[in-house]
Amino acid sequence: MTIAQKKLITMAHGAGGSQMGRLIKDTILANLGGSASLPEVEIALEELDDSAAVGGVVFSTDSYVVKPLFFPGGDIGSLAVAGTVNDISMVGADAAAISCALMLEEGFPIEELERILKSMSETSKLAGVPVVTGDTKVVERGALDGMFINTSGIGFGGESLQKNIDVVKEYREFEENWIKDSNVRDGDTIIVSGTMGDHGVTILSTREGYGFESEVQSDIYPLNKMISSALEEGGIVAMKDPTRGGLANTLNEWSEKSKVGILIREEHIPLTEGVVSACEMLGIDPLAIGNEGKVTIAVVREKAEDVLESLCKTDPGKKAAIIGEARSDIRGVVMETVMGGKRIVDMPAGDPVPRIC
Ligand code: MG
Repeated sequence: MTIAQKKLITMAHGAGGSQMGRLIKDTILANLGGSASLPEVEIALEELDDSAAVGGVVFSTDSYVVKPLFFPGGDIGSLAVAGTVNDISMVGADAAAISCALMLEEGFPIEELERILKSMSETSKLAGVPVVTGDTKVVERGALDGMFINTSGIGFGGESLQKNIDVVKEYREFEENWIKDSNVRDGDTIIVSGTMGDHGVTILSTREGYGFESEVQSDIYPLNKMISSALEEGGIVAMKDPTRGGLANTLNEWSEKSKVGILIREEHIPLTEGVVSACEMLGIDPLAIGNEGKVTIAVVREKAEDVLESLCKTDPGKKAAIIGEARSDIRGVVMETVMGGKRIVDMPAGDPVPRIC
């Protein structure tokens, strides 16, 4: 086989969206899958949810390769803590502890490392989730770009999850023990916890020097406390943090896994002016750009206003909004535009901004 015929990894394979989805299904799951049949596995690798669940323990892992390491609103350290805490929260679990594995390039300034570790510590305190184990590796100059971090986390289903599920059962049959992407049903209300696209636009603008970084900043935030209060209200069936591939990716994943259509209304999607003008200038879709402090929630219709109110009372959820609903009479994800038309919101091929997390 010549080099031209060899299939090679491209940036799109790591960008969330359809290309990455194919790599995961055809190459990764084909080799590492198979845990779904084990009796102790409650959320399996194949479900490609934000976390796994095994014998009552919720487990999630994520590596952080963001470029640059520091940007308005955060850095690789705050991102590495919030990102993993949030993934554990998405299935309804209370995050209990995380790990921190550092991969450092020879020559990396210790002063910058300390700044990043302080930021990790602050975010961990804000979340109330301690770092309890870790690992440190150093590689020779050029073998990686400054530093990468891996964090993994564990959590458990608590009282707020149980209360939430009890409320769901008042309105419909519900057999699940966890909040999953496959639980969305016709009539469920779709909520986002705030403005879309801030993190991705901040990273892109900081990296490329477009100048929007004075108007936008990353939304990095650990959402576990906000989500716990929302679960207390109850009625939530699915949650997902719209990271790589943004809202477009999240809603398409729900539609596919839950086998239901989703209708959203453009005028109700919260966006900051900075993100709107950056996206217009750069010709990118704010719905396909990653967020790091937001959650998309599907909730039974009868509890939507209560959950919205609960989100709006918190700092990271102040701008939460109902953006649409699940519909069995449509296929895929459709948006009613501000102009009054309808357009299909496709699964993005990948996030237009590489290395945002
Ligand atoms: Mg996630």
